[in-house]
Amino acid sequence: MRFEEVLELGLKFHGHKCPAMPLGLRAGLASIKALGVERSQDKELHVKAETGKGHAAGCFLDGIMIATGCTYGKSNIEKLYYNKMAFTLIDQKTGRAVRVSLKPDFFEKALASPFVQKRKAGIPPQNIEPEVTDPLVGRILGLADEAFLDVGPVHTVEVKKGKGVFTAKRCASCGELTFVNKLRETESGDLVCIPCSGYEG
Ligand SMILES: [Zn+2]
Ligand SMILES: [Zn+2]
Repeated sequence: MRFEEVLELGLKFHGHKCPAMPLGLRAGLASIKALGVERSQDKELHVKAETGKGHAAGCFLDGIMIATGCTYGKSNIEKLYYNKMAFTLIDQKTGRAVRVSLKPDFFEKALASPFVQKRKAGIPPQNIEPEVTDPLVGRILGLADEAFLDVGPVHTVEVKKGKGVFTAKRCASCGELTFVNKLRETESGDLVCIPCSGYEG
């Protein structure tokens, strides 16, 4: 995909224009470039994101998902909830991995930007004037990678490989089709889904 296409897809998927999603896009593309791999069509790549929830600029992760093709639906992304603007991209075939993070100086300044001030004041991102958002996004798109990203050395990690489960059976209680690895057996020997079983996962 050309960068313009990735950006367009990102903006549509994300739902609003903000500086953090394009930062994630750029960071995701830099990680793919560092490993010399293609965007994940299935589960060729895996992302361990250090972002969390309830903090500014969490939109970063949507950009990473779009750029790397690692998505929650495919389960080849996980959040570590460290509340840090960093992630590691792993090539599942070779175990080659790279950690990419936002430079502290850059991110400190970004947190002082007029966009973040408005967010702090409770204005939803989609209601912030384009005069505030557009120049920030434009600047991010024009930055050299070295100006805002720390791309770590390519290293090797251990890759756990699991096979997908393709068999589903009906829950004896609610009748809904459930993949067998999450069906539980009751005392009478019936197979039921987690919500019907009365206990957690
Ligand atoms: Zn956003
Ligand atoms: Zn059920």
